[in-house]
Amino acid sequence: MADTAINDAFVAFERVQKSYDGELLVVKDLNLSMPKGEFLTMLGPSGSGKTTCLMMLAGFETATHGEIKLKGDPINNIPPHKRGIGMVFQNYALFPHMTVAENLSFPLEVRKIGKSEREGKVKRALDMVQMGDFGGRRPAQLSGGQQQRIALARALVFEPELVLMDEPLGALDKQLREHMQFEITNLAHELGITVVYVTHDQTEALTMSDRVAVFDDGRIQQLAPPDELYESPQNSFVAQFIGENN
Ligand code: ADP
Repeated sequence: MADTAINDAFVAFERVQKSYDGELLVVKDLNLSMPKGEFLTMLGPSGSGKTTCLMMLAGFETATHGEIKLKGDPINNIPPHKRGIGMVFQNYALFPHMTVAENLSFPLEVRKIGKSEREGKVKRALDMVQMGDFGGRRPAQLSGGQQQRIALARALVFEPELVLMDEPLGALDKQLREHMQFEITNLAHELGITVVYVTHDQTEALTMSDRVAVFDDGRIQQLAPPDELYESPQNSFVAQFIGENN
């Protein structure tokens, strides 16, 4: 039965290990199976291997052992433009000399999408993040929160099935962060997008996610819905980590 679950998974990590340059393993025998539409957060202290997992899923790093699959196919067998993955990071790096609309349109142009189709997609993505009126502005004329929304729109402009986010709200103040947490989860559920979200912030993980994978030292210590993590932490690390700052 376990095999069927993995084969049906939208995203699967199967016995994945990773070491950089033959050094110690930073990801140790990781297994994870996600259904389509799930919002899963990788939560854990700095250095526990979360970003490395995201980078492997994005195709920027390769696993030393094991396999990562997308819809049943090994990720490395799928050409990057066919993977349907959008990415949002803390350092969202919008092009400063381009307008907001041009920032979104440029990657579509690179992929040879025609002008009218580009305009439609850009408008749709900006509307999704409630920034429809800001297409003519430059990034420097936007607040931090607005810039982060544009970074989100830029990930959505390709209509991805899977979005990877690494501490996307880390640079924002508390109030704005909470607002964006709400917006991101709503949008993901509305659009039926599968999300892998990386954070070291317990509250963020517990409020946003369908399931949370608690990382420590390159392993998932517990994988469970937020209420289960609260009510029955599997070991003392999870209990202590979840309890901090709450
Ligand atoms: P997290 O996202 O949980 O903070 P990372 O995946 O970034 O963890 O890092 C896990 C471990 O891998 C850390 O010890 C880090 O120093 C190491 N590491 C991350 N990226 C690289 C890299 N490109 N080269 C060598 N070591 C790396």
